[in-house]
Amino acid sequence: MSKIISIVVPCYNEEAALKYTIPQLLKIFDDLVGQGKISSESFVLCVDDGSRDKTWEEIAKLHEKDNRVKGITLAHNRGHQYALLSGLMEVKDKCDAAVSIDADLQDDPLAIVQMVEEFLNGKEIVYGVRASRSTDTWFKRTTARCFYKFQASMGLQTIYDHADYRLMSSRALEILSQYGESNLFLRGIIPQIGLDTAIVKYDRHERVAGESKYPLKKMLAFSVDGITSFSARPMRMIFFVGLTLLLIDILVALYVLIAYFGDTAIAGWPSIMLSVWFLGSLILMAIGIVGEYIGKIFVEVKARPRFNIKSTIW
Ligand code: UDP
Ligand code: MG
Repeated sequence: MSKIISIVVPCYNEEAALKYTIPQLLKIFDDLVGQGKISSESFVLCVDDGSRDKTWEEIAKLHEKDNRVKGITLAHNRGHQYALLSGLMEVKDKCDAAVSIDADLQDDPLAIVQMVEEFLNGKEIVYGVRASRSTDTWFKRTTARCFYKFQASMGLQTIYDHADYRLMSSRALEILSQYGESNLFLRGIIPQIGLDTAIVKYDRHERVAGESKYPLKKMLAFSVDGITSFSARPMRMIFFVGLTLLLIDILVALYVLIAYFGDTAIAGWPSIMLSVWFLGSLILMAIGIVGEYIGKIFVEVKARPRFNIKSTIW
């Protein structure tokens, strides 16, 4: 039986973009259905993330024209990650695979064809990866590179140059649904799902209409959120800073003793110097140790699945 594919589109104030985006997505369905690759029941789900403009009316209009266009609307603006998750959870039991794509056509929708191809060949997660960043400004390009490097150094593993343009099989979505965490950073969670994956390269374009909802401030917050949702490494670093200071203490102690015995030290200065340095490093190490335990609690409260079975022979 041919597979039902859904496309989930998070939309925040996208009334201007949807009328370009949705017909393109439906056209891709038409082609794939025509080639007998996917089911004609495949559909597009628009998630209105509490938009302030006429996005919801636009979705309703598009649904009137073609009932393969479905919609849900969130009560509040919850941000891209939550809008996307709500859509994915909505379609999880209604399709065989779901593709997530932004509403602004920045990610070339034609890559969906290759994603579906990979899915039909048995891949469970197919990541859309940008072939180049030539359309980005120098600033965006450089900050993005720095983010990836910084994140990796902080213990957050992500797929390089992959945003949230991807295909997930219903099985991968089922596993995703077991991640109950509130601080959502899908780009970190999905590589943890494992299973068979593939990468599809695509070109990223300018927005088709409207403007970006992700200014630098939001991007920075997003990156910090990603790191702190995945790694206790920043806390562990406190311990090592304390330890390093303790080693520096030896040099300071040497210097203080030389001054003391060389009679160049004012009375009281050596004892204050030594205790400030020594106590400072001890306090930092103690905070680091507390951090280790908090790190454990942090992993426990997330209650992430402890394993995902890839395949079985029974
Ligand atoms: N978006 C959303 N909720 C928000 C902000 C953005 O659902 O609070 C959607 C937006 O409509 C778009 C996608 O997330 O489909 C990516 O946003 P945008 O294109 O503005 O980000 P950029 O591509 O500039 O990083
Ligand atoms: Mg965009």
